[in-house]
Amino acid sequence: MAAVAALPFMGVLTAVAVAPGEAKPAAVAVHEVSQLLALPALPATAVTGERYWREERVLRGDTLGGLLSRLGVSSAEANHFIHSAPVSRDLLKLRSGATLSVQIDDQGELFGLRFLNDDENGEKVLVVIEKSGQQWQASAEAPATETIQTVRSVDVRTSLGGALAQAGVPLEVRLQLGEIFAEQLDTSRLKRGSRVNLVYETLLYKGSPISTGNVLAAEIISDGRQWQAFYFAHDSESGAYYDAAGQPLRKGFSLTPVANAPVSSGFGMRLHPVLHNLRMHEGIDYAAGTGTPIVAPADGMVDTMATQNGYGNVVILKHSAKLSTLYAHMSRFESTLKRGSKVRAGDVIGYVGATGRVTGPHLHMEVHVDGLAVDPSSTALPAQTLNATQRLALREHSVKLAGNLKLLREIPASVAQLE
Ligand SMILES: [Zn+2]
Repeated sequence: MAAVAALPFMGVLTAVAVAPGEAKPAAVAVHEVSQLLALPALPATAVTGERYWREERVLRGDTLGGLLSRLGVSSAEANHFIHSAPVSRDLLKLRSGATLSVQIDDQGELFGLRFLNDDENGEKVLVVIEKSGQQWQASAEAPATETIQTVRSVDVRTSLGGALAQAGVPLEVRLQLGEIFAEQLDTSRLKRGSRVNLVYETLLYKGSPISTGNVLAAEIISDGRQWQAFYFAHDSESGAYYDAAGQPLRKGFSLTPVANAPVSSGFGMRLHPVLHNLRMHEGIDYAAGTGTPIVAPADGMVDTMATQNGYGNVVILKHSAKLSTLYAHMSRFESTLKRGSKVRAGDVIGYVGATGRVTGPHLHMEVHVDGLAVDPSSTALPAQTLNATQRLALREHSVKLAGNLKLLREIPASVAQLE
């Protein structure tokens, strides 16, 4: 593994290291100093028809046409694309903040386009459209993605949120970080001089990041104290955070919503079994038969009780100002409940079913922190104590990750916030 750190240049002070997921830990940190150099002007004859990928962030009020023209696509080409794109109009409405990647040549001809967007069901889906001859085709194949480990280190100047944003750490990761340590400390109150080191997964499609995965390891050093968290996967669908000694960092809820039901699909990017595209699964699915009671896993208040397109019969419980949970596809609600009702952990709120867009009965559960969906298994559901075999596996795994964190600690002057 080559841990490459881009050290301060031109006032941008960011320590960044990206390591391939499967690589062995490095024995030596390689520090590379990046500088911006002026490129010589290309000769006017350098028209080659060569294709390249360009990326642009979607701004508020952007239209697809406007964005394509900013990326250098000719207006005739953009028009042709918009009128013949083989996907629904709704999928072409871009969300601000999303990144659009296009493949063009130096004549402004468009060859490919990809972005992550919400479908009609509110699910995030990777849209891949490519030109074959003069025809546009939506990709029918499963997109080949690759997961890499991204490493970031920041020193807090005014706030951790600001420092992480400045270092380009995605919002999902910033939020996860607060949740991981929620029972240890309030990360939003970390003082100036605190250091935070992070290793998290980034999902790449053809070399460009399209989504963020789990935070794999995190370390906070503040006031001479140190906190560490390591992600441990219980199975292919769920996992949680433990300290180096194997103790869970969060107690979590006292109950699961469906007793003894296995998790059939976890949180994160999942391949859609029918459509063969990538979807962001914003919750977890429990396999259980129609009519199985669903209980509130913690005390709360019924915030929503409704029938919606994709979710079917859905209940949202509010547990605190920050935290809410959602239960979808119910066959029916518990008849005594209504909007505003108070529930206690263990109270039945409804019954498993197959309403909404589903292939069979199951419970789809989501956990929202400040309105953003987070992984229920690592942030809210009951903590799993590890058995001896799991503790051993965690130790081996955490030693590797701790090595990455140690590399970050040794990078000098990795200040990632401008004031
Ligand atoms: Zn689901």
